[in-house]
Amino acid sequence: MSDFASSISSLSNKFSGRLLLPKDSDWDAARRVHNGFVDKRPALVAQCLGSADIAVAVRLAREQGLEIAVRGGGHNVGGRATVDGGVMVDLSMMKHVHVDPAARTARVAGGTLWGHFNRETQAHGLATTGGVVSTTGVAGLTLGGGLGWLMPKHGLALDNLRSVEVVLADGRILRVSANEHPDLFWAVRGGGGNFGVVSSFEFGLHEVGPMVTGGLIGWPVDKAREVLVHFRDLTAKATDDTMLVGALLTAPDRSTKLAAMGAGFFGRPTDAEGVVQPIKLFSQPIIDMIGPIPYADLNTVFDASLPRGARNYWKSHFCETLSDAAIDVIVDCFTRCPSSMSQFVIEHFHGAATRVAPMDTAYALRASGFNIIVVSQWIAPSDDAANIGWARDTYAAIQPFVGARRYVNYLDQDDAGDPVLVAAYGPNLRRLQSIKAKYDPDNVFRLNVNIPPKA
Ligand SMILES: Cc1cc2nc3c(=O)[nH]c(=O)nc-3n(C[C@H](O)[C@H](O)[C@H](O)COP(=O)(O)OP(=O)(O)OC[C@H]3O[C@@H](n4cnc5c(N)ncnc54)[C@H](O)[C@@H]3O)c2cc1C
Repeated sequence: MSDFASSISSLSNKFSGRLLLPKDSDWDAARRVHNGFVDKRPALVAQCLGSADIAVAVRLAREQGLEIAVRGGGHNVGGRATVDGGVMVDLSMMKHVHVDPAARTARVAGGTLWGHFNRETQAHGLATTGGVVSTTGVAGLTLGGGLGWLMPKHGLALDNLRSVEVVLADGRILRVSANEHPDLFWAVRGGGGNFGVVSSFEFGLHEVGPMVTGGLIGWPVDKAREVLVHFRDLTAKATDDTMLVGALLTAPDRSTKLAAMGAGFFGRPTDAEGVVQPIKLFSQPIIDMIGPIPYADLNTVFDASLPRGARNYWKSHFCETLSDAAIDVIVDCFTRCPSSMSQFVIEHFHGAATRVAPMDTAYALRASGFNIIVVSQWIAPSDDAANIGWARDTYAAIQPFVGARRYVNYLDQDDAGDPVLVAAYGPNLRRLQSIKAKYDPDNVFRLNVNIPPKA
């Protein structure tokens, strides 16, 4: 028996979850992530059941000199949850949400997905900001920021964190909050998985719905320029109760191209009409799904357009303004898009998420403005070059309009190097490096948008 195989068999009474090797029948499904373009083959998938299992898996990988990838929901477009020849510390069996309705908090295990989170919290009429696609992981999304429908009203997902439990590179298990290891609590709120494996999260919750107003509305793509100008005009008047997203995409029939808007309204139900009417009065839509909807369902309306296993390559950048010239370029690039699955998504940032100072948490992107995402998505490997090429050309074309920051959670695998680190972490990079040197001096957790340790 090889050293590696005998180390694994010796763990049988120290590990509660499942240890999957390439010869095991479930290994192939376990190694796969949301992005079908990512095809990595870990030497071991360690499916953990708790912090003690995570500590064992981290120690094993270090003893064997193997790289560690940490999988929360496995949704990262850059495929950072998996690794060739290393150990995938897989939290997908750790799905648990416990709501304390009186305290308005939820304790959530590190492998939980947002759809599960929303169902459990909404059973009590509660929620917090989370991803707009229900299959995205709570862990990676929150550690990098956490954009969602509620961000103008309640801040980012990470703004609602009360505490986390972290397994460090040396196997220690820490509870981390504003009062316990506050430097680490600052760092995990935006610094991603650089500091350890987060086994659980405690969130503060708010009264939301369960019925809210929202959905998608779409017009013919030949009106794209006017629709995006209309979207920009509406964002200028949006209150904290309203979240708006602009989009160019193809309808579910896979042939009708649309210029669209996603809207969510979370204020008093009697005020909803006053927000929705100006959106709808613009012109005759082809699709109009904006209306009363359960909050949990609003967080599934994009699921079908972003299916698991599709090949993805994304480029994104934050822009403080959305000029007429930028809109012209976006509309023009969309006409040349080779795949009916691809999209432009323009997220509007305003309200509570932008009122936190950039250095109060490690997440630095606190300006008002527009986050432009070029979502290139396709199925056939033979179409890789055309779709990657389109995303790269489009990203180059929007460069004259972009600002300094990029959202860390949308960076793809080839977004690397110092300029990307500065764009992602901004003025917080130096402090993050020194906290990394304290908690992970050997850079054990490096399969992320990596912050090199520097004391
Ligand atoms: C279809 C789609 C929709 C999306 N929608 C949104 C959205 O609405 N809002 C938004 O803000 N972002 C969104 N994103 C981006 C999303 O935030 C990132 O993809 C995020 O990384 C997903 O988290 P995950 O746990 O699923 O990721 P994973 O792929 O599991 O992990 C991503 C990174 O986080 C690290 N990590 C994961 N779990 C842990 C843990 N428990 N402890 C320490 N490190 C960990 C991993 O090592 C890796 O580096 C979307 C992405 C996709 C593909």
